[in-house]
Amino acid sequence: MKAHYKILILGAGSGGISSAARLAKQISPKDIAIVDPAIKHYYQPLWTLSGAGVLPKQESERNQIDYIPQGVDWIQESVTRLNPKANEVETSSGLTLTYDFLIVALGLRLAWEKIPGAKKALGKNGVCTIYEYDQVDKTEEMLKTFTGGTAIFTMPPVPIKCAGAPQKIMYLADEIFRKKGIRNQSKILFATAGKAIFGIPVFAEALTKVVQRKEIELLVQHQLISIDGTNKKAVFKVTDPAGQVSNQEIKYDLIHVVPPMSAPTVVAESELVEKEGDQKGWLSVDKFTLQHKSFPNIFGIGDVTGVPNSKTGAAIRKQAPVVVENLLSVMRKEEPQAKYDGYSSCPLVIGIGKVILAEFGYDGKLLPSFPLNPAKERRSMWLLKRYLLPKLYWHGMLRGLA
Ligand code: FAD
Repeated sequence: MKAHYKILILGAGSGGISSAARLAKQISPKDIAIVDPAIKHYYQPLWTLSGAGVLPKQESERNQIDYIPQGVDWIQESVTRLNPKANEVETSSGLTLTYDFLIVALGLRLAWEKIPGAKKALGKNGVCTIYEYDQVDKTEEMLKTFTGGTAIFTMPPVPIKCAGAPQKIMYLADEIFRKKGIRNQSKILFATAGKAIFGIPVFAEALTKVVQRKEIELLVQHQLISIDGTNKKAVFKVTDPAGQVSNQEIKYDLIHVVPPMSAPTVVAESELVEKEGDQKGWLSVDKFTLQHKSFPNIFGIGDVTGVPNSKTGAAIRKQAPVVVENLLSVMRKEEPQAKYDGYSSCPLVIGIGKVILAEFGYDGKLLPSFPLNPAKERRSMWLLKRYLLPKLYWHGMLRGLA
């Protein structure tokens, strides 16, 4: 381990490893280090399927060491401070590392504190989530042992990672309840802080038909603000069509909670964040080049970035080549030319064997990979989500090949 690296990458998740793998093919891996304390790497998109018992959650977990590109140093510490004016970062053991170029790939933070009562209620009395690895089994157990009553699935204000997952788990739960023969004794509510079930009209239209068909009640502009886990009550901030705001308490028997999300604290407290506007608090990068707006030797990738896309691993697959190409240009003192078009993809799991593959870019532009009606439920897209995409992730993306 050295005190100075040509390129320092913060975070060894989807964005950090994809970038490192691509860079290590273009420059000497000895000039690169990754800082991340996590010894496990997760393919989080499988948590939705594991939460519904389709596959064991362990299928989503690998040893981080197996994905650090050969020759790249892995500094197993947390980043505790960013000092971009001095090209320095500090780590949990008090190390100061310096760099010529920095890639920030620190993901995001689940802001549980914004829903008082939620974190401590998790895993008991019908409160579950697929957004934490250690809660995925509990979610499966709660869905399978549910005996009827009111089941609420919540969606916080965006941005969040995989904005489709809060409803995917609900459609799978609906199927579990039907198979158990308890669906007619159950009421399913989808309580979203947003104004519609999905941000892109063509998919919102298709999903509205799905919730109608499945007899799910859609509650828009219902933001979960607190949970009383002992008494099984949830409070929502409700905004009516006239803009009047009130609080509504709903009793539940099961609640799947997705918390609001924000940039990791070390980023939020640094001078690297956007100060104003929709992306306030997220890493301030140009939405096309992914270069930092004030520090040209810094780039961002993945969930941490303040760009108006949908935060997914699929987005990172398209961002990684752009970040690497632009970083190499800046190293050669050239202008960054590569552009990210905002691509993101969300395989909307409607049930076992049924997926609508939503693919879109900035401003809601549809960017389908296949010449097919993108709003249609397909078994082929289920096979893609269940079998092909995990392989593409482990063997392609994380190896810098896809
Ligand atoms: P991460 O992969 O989360 O990595 C961040 C890394 O930073 C971690 O390794 C962490 O240890 C490290 N880190 C954090 N803080 C520090 C620190 N202070 N110092 C050092 N290291 C630190 N995407 C899809 O494309 N399709 C899907 O179907 C899909 N479904 C999803 C379902 C669920 C339930 C969830 C939770 C996510 C889903 N996603 C999906 C989203 C996808 O997993 C994320 O967008 C992606 O993993 C983000 O990658 P990242 O590199 O930005 O962050």
